[in-house]
Amino acid sequence: MTRIGVLGGTFDPIHVGHLAAAAEVRSALALDRVLLVVANVPWQKAGTRAITPAEDRCSVVAAAAEGIDGVEASRLEIDRGGSSYTADTVIELARRHPGAELYLVVGTDVVADLDTWERVDEVRAGVTLVVVTRPGAALTLPAPPWRAQAVPVPALDISSSDLRARVAAGRPIDALVPSAAVREIRRLGLYAGEG
Ligand code: ATP
Ligand code: MG
Repeated sequence: MTRIGVLGGTFDPIHVGHLAAAAEVRSALALDRVLLVVANVPWQKAGTRAITPAEDRCSVVAAAAEGIDGVEASRLEIDRGGSSYTADTVIELARRHPGAELYLVVGTDVVADLDTWERVDEVRAGVTLVVVTRPGAALTLPAPPWRAQAVPVPALDISSSDLRARVAAGRPIDALVPSAAVREIRRLGLYAGEG
């Protein structure tokens, strides 16, 4: 039986917190692969700030995942277009991989928002939720009927928000983002004009 992890995010930009969590979950749960699913339009963030074009975020994710065994960028939500709903992604993955077990990975900060997701009942029916620890947010598991388990991951107090502010302020993001992804961010000229 194929076991697939799904770590969705805006990844604006991706950082080693995401990557370490993906690798740790893959190892802890013996998953075949973990997909870093890049949100096309992150509808819950969209009105609040300018979001980097999805293609640019995705090429940085692809550069970051290069060489990490079993962790890969996924274009699924970009290719589908429009607002990105995890429910659609779960249904699409189940269709593409009949019989696969799906593990949806979220940080502790996201658990409180689950109730606000579109068609959350469809997500709940299709996945086991994997809650990874994140500095600054207490670990809570959602109640049944969620199937949920916690996986402790390295405590890396890094956020994309902080990285965007760093680039805008001319401060380094080296080692917080893999070097190939730092190069891609520079090549695309991302974040420098903000702040
Ligand atoms: P932003 O500051 O823009 O919200 P972020 O760093 O939170 O960015 P997201 O793209 O929002 O990154 O996060 C995608 C997923 O990765 C979420 O489930 C989030 O909880 C998880 N995540 C992000 N950073 C970490 C981290 N340092 N450790 C563990 N999980 C993380
Ligand atoms: Mg976030």
